[in-house]
Amino acid sequence: ITQLYGPLTWFGTYYRVIQKNFIDMEKLLELFDEPIEVKDPEFPAPLNVPNGEIVFDNVSFSYDRQLTLKNVSFKVPAGSTVAIVGPSGSGKSTILRLLFRFYDVQAGRILIDGQDIRGVLQTQLRQAIGVVPQDTVLFNDSIRYNIAYGRAGTNGGVTMTDVTGAADGAHIHDRIMGFPDQYETRVGERGQRLSGGEKQRVAIARTLLKDPRIVCLDEATSALDTTTERNIQTSLRDMTQNRTTLIIAHRLSTIIHADQILIVKDGEIVERGTHAELIADSSSLYYDMWMKQLTDAVNASYDPILDPAN
Ligand code: ATP
Repeated sequence: ITQLYGPLTWFGTYYRVIQKNFIDMEKLLELFDEPIEVKDPEFPAPLNVPNGEIVFDNVSFSYDRQLTLKNVSFKVPAGSTVAIVGPSGSGKSTILRLLFRFYDVQAGRILIDGQDIRGVLQTQLRQAIGVVPQDTVLFNDSIRYNIAYGRAGTNGGVTMTDVTGAADGAHIHDRIMGFPDQYETRVGERGQRLSGGEKQRVAIARTLLKDPRIVCLDEATSALDTTTERNIQTSLRDMTQNRTTLIIAHRLSTIIHADQILIVKDGEIVERGTHAELIADSSSLYYDMWMKQLTDAVNASYDPILDPAN
């Protein structure tokens, strides 16, 4: 009898490991909807990202017949921040999905430090880019595991010092130390035992641990409370300092300091410039969007700059 159990137990353990990795992968992909299979090149070039410059060169793309992006061209110089704003369905997330090569462009090209992303391995590409999504996916595991996940897939071992350092950078270390189980605290299914702000900080810590040259942020549409949001902004600013940053913004107040703002409408970049340049033109779409946010702020009596949560 025991002879029978041996292999079964072994198989059980092994199966659980496979299953777990499978679920993790699935959850990560979920962030970007179901991607179509994109093939790695037969002879991939090694991806070198010394600076992290991003170039979209005349990119056009469609999911089906309709063009979702039309001749999109922009550059994010190394270390700078470019924000993408625009109405719902205009193509903002699609730009990020293409950068991750979840789909291939139908015309044009996307370059990272001069290299076409179709010429490199997808794993290398995704290792070079950190993401802080709208709604962070946490695994039903410990806080330590969830932060260390930032370096999953790389060969370098993650030490506890790495994890606590990253948590400290995301301003959540003290908080974690206040929990009875500290870094071994289980976050629960989808991280439900943590608050929205704590989850975002874990995502920031994960990205700091990954230490990519490029960071993509998808700003949460659902507002966190004002104080939390203001504190998160500090952690985000620390993270994006000296990293090339592409941010999808819903609240214009959070991108006033972006080096460049792109306004996307129906898959095209219709306006671009700094906040000051864009609001100087009262006939711009951006000017209308800004005025609308100001009016909403006055009606709801909050300060749009000091209280970006709204
Ligand atoms: P939001 O601000 O609401 O998130 P967005 O600007 O990010 O919108 P995208 O998600 O990029 O917009 O979508 C652009 C267009 O492409 C939309 O019309 C959307 O319906 C369509 N679209 C997005 N994903 C798919 C898909 N997987 N298959 C087909 N069409 C899609």
